[in-house]
Amino acid sequence: MTARIIDGKTIAQELRAEWKVRVDALKARGITPGLAVIIVGEDPASKVYVGNKVKACAEIGLYSEHIALPADTQETTLLAKIAELNVNPAIHGLLIQLPLPNHIDSHKVLEAISPNKDVDGFHPMNVGALVTGTTLFPPCTPSGTMKLLEKMGIEIEGKHAVVVGRSNIVGKPMALMLLHNSATVTICTSKTMNLGKYTRDADILVVATGKPHMITGDMIKPGAVVIDIGINRLPNGKLVGDVDFESATEVAGYITPVPGGVGPMTITMLMANTIEAAEREEKQE
Ligand code: NDP
Repeated sequence: MTARIIDGKTIAQELRAEWKVRVDALKARGITPGLAVIIVGEDPASKVYVGNKVKACAEIGLYSEHIALPADTQETTLLAKIAELNVNPAIHGLLIQLPLPNHIDSHKVLEAISPNKDVDGFHPMNVGALVTGTTLFPPCTPSGTMKLLEKMGIEIEGKHAVVVGRSNIVGKPMALMLLHNSATVTICTSKTMNLGKYTRDADILVVATGKPHMITGDMIKPGAVVIDIGINRLPNGKLVGDVDFESATEVAGYITPVPGGVGPMTITMLMANTIEAAEREEKQE
């Protein structure tokens, strides 16, 4: 079998065209949805991600502010900046690019963001609400994955979904979203014994470990849907996922490529959350 490619790039473009209609409608009513992105320090990957977010926002007419703070910024300075943006009417969505430098308590920082502007969905209030299925902002990477499954017409209900990775920003919310859609969910971690036993039983396999090529074709059930969230830069500069694409495509039914799979969806869902924030605020006025 050769797997069908889930073309995240094309799906993201289609969705962005839909989002633009919503932005234009808001603008016609005098509201420009605005996103502020704060980056602390010089992490090269983070700088690329922030640049991509700002560029993508501009493409569909969102206002965006890119706030770059030096690596030695004090926590109090960052908290003061967040407090200022929380009440800035031009800003509907606010995100802090992670990871933060070690001297800053990221939990404290995420808690400082107004839950109404928390477009990354990382505020403890939104994380808690995700458990009950009532979050204001679903975290962008897992919600982008859910959108890909929806767009491909892939059934989730009753399926065995295996999520490899349990981070707060990807693995855990991913598992919750699949559970809300009535999948039977297994979560695997670095401590899981005999990982292949679980992955080979997955109808839907989602991998978010940051370990290049760790899932190989022999670990995949024939015909399974394989979602590769990993983004890894090899020493030769090549970008690869956590799944060995070559061997996996021989076995899987569907697969996301890296790049061009989940990656473009993350920013697309960030835009959706920002637009949603602006629409919500308008309704409350
Ligand atoms: P983290 O490092 O925070 O978490 C990795 C998770 O993988 C941990 O839970 C870890 O387990 C688990 N893990 C590591 N090795 C193994 C193993 N051998 N077997 C099973 N589980 C393992 O990473 P993130 O969740 O933040 O990111 C994961 C990947 O997704 C990265 O490549 C990242 O770049 C990418 N990413 C992509 C995005 C996109 O837009 N496509 C957005 C965000 C991230 P344990 O908890 O036991 O240590």
